[in-house]
Amino acid sequence: MTKLIFEKSKKGVNGINLTEEPVDFSFINKEYLNDNKDSILPEISELEVMRHYKELSDKNFCIEKGFYPLGSCTMKYNPKVNEMLASLEGFTDLHPLQEDEDSQGALKLMYKLQEALKNITGMDAVTLQPAAGAHGELTGMMIVKKYFETAGENRKNVIIPDSAHGTNPASASMCGFNIIEIKSNEKGLVDLEALKSVLDENTAAIMLTNPNTLGLFEEEILKISELAHNAGALLYYDGANMNAIMGYTNPKLMGFDIVHINLHKTFSTPHGGGGPGAGPVGVTEKLKEFLPVPIVDFDGQKYIRKYNLKHSIGKIKAFYGNFSVFVKAYAYILLMGKELKEVSSYAVLNANYMMNKLKEYYYLPYDRKCMHEFVLSGEQQKEQGVNTLAIAKCLMDSNFHPPTIYFPLIVHEAIMIEPTESETKERLDEFISTMIKIANDVKNNPESVLNHPVNTPVTKVDETLAARRPDLAYKKS
Ligand SMILES: *Cc1c(COP(=O)(O)O)cnc(C)c1O
Repeated sequence: MTKLIFEKSKKGVNGINLTEEPVDFSFINKEYLNDNKDSILPEISELEVMRHYKELSDKNFCIEKGFYPLGSCTMKYNPKVNEMLASLEGFTDLHPLQEDEDSQGALKLMYKLQEALKNITGMDAVTLQPAAGAHGELTGMMIVKKYFETAGENRKNVIIPDSAHGTNPASASMCGFNIIEIKSNEKGLVDLEALKSVLDENTAAIMLTNPNTLGLFEEEILKISELAHNAGALLYYDGANMNAIMGYTNPKLMGFDIVHINLHKTFSTPHGGGGPGAGPVGVTEKLKEFLPVPIVDFDGQKYIRKYNLKHSIGKIKAFYGNFSVFVKAYAYILLMGKELKEVSSYAVLNANYMMNKLKEYYYLPYDRKCMHEFVLSGEQQKEQGVNTLAIAKCLMDSNFHPPTIYFPLIVHEAIMIEPTESETKERLDEFISTMIKIANDVKNNPESVLNHPVNTPVTKVDETLAARRPDLAYKKS
């Protein structure tokens, strides 16, 4: 167990040399001075400080350390050139309040990124402001609300399938909409009859993701879009995961009116530690004037920030969003070029390869061709006394990040696997054989699977206590 840096502290050890001369502190306001002579800072040499933090960072799991098949999260490789470009002085030293004429490079990059995202999604206008996927959903739902207010219609309902990401109902609910949940059919897709039975003149929007969170493509999407539009409703696309469809189809072709995209999933950028991310929103022509301001535009000579949108929902983020993420996403898009289409083909191929290798060992509730991810069920293993959580913990001891578990909610003991395109076949095979070994162990000796992890810095924790009452602060004894 690593000691805390405070426990390594030894009185009188110095990491730095301060002057022996008395220091004049009179320029500091008295109330800010700490007259407690007993330092609460650890006393430790510079080299030991370095070792301490290196040791801590080695305990982190990250995509550079191992396979990270976290379904719905798209933990793909983030090319390091993106980081290099995002840290160029011209970008990092730019103040967001600088005038347009002094920020032409940054504005041009944002404009070009908007254009690229318009191309990829098929939408007619894009805002880069939202800071995350859920923030994009909120922006989209605010646009839906204002659109109907402006049209003088009072539509209160948003229809969402039971397989949806939890942020969908949350975002719609925050905008004051009633949520109507519809059940998926036996194929794992939207049940058209269920949809028709709740779709009416009170429906403001249907929120969908395609492929859905089971990793399955909604084959009836054009029919759904027709039904929605005939009822006067808008169709919202949760495009957090574009990894499956880039270059093959897009939300516009499927009939969607509004889409958010997670730059920090599909378009690379390290994520998982809480940000920063970016959740740009694209809309069709009729919703252009509702976007948040400012929008980055080109007036024929220079790039400008445009504020005069007739029905704008206003501002939804300080300044213009998380700029460094834009640089990384734009670099990634340029780097890939037309190969963005291949990203999708490999993401889908990898997922289907793994699904077919694993379905003999774990129950596959929807046994159909999947897109970029698939969902297994640990039901059979649970009958042997080993639940999905235990399987996930077991994987950690083999240097794998566990897949997403217990989501989507409609699959019991769900194990949601998304390999992404950036893994080699050897790495996929390694994960497959580990999963098969676990399945065999569950059959032959279930006890042996239960006490993991043992190789991690922290072993088995009380999940509820760790989430509800995390104790993260060092208390000096
Ligand atoms: C990740 C994800 C979101 C939310 O994105 P955040 O950036 O975490 O807010 C929404 N929908 C789906 C399908 C996702 O995978």
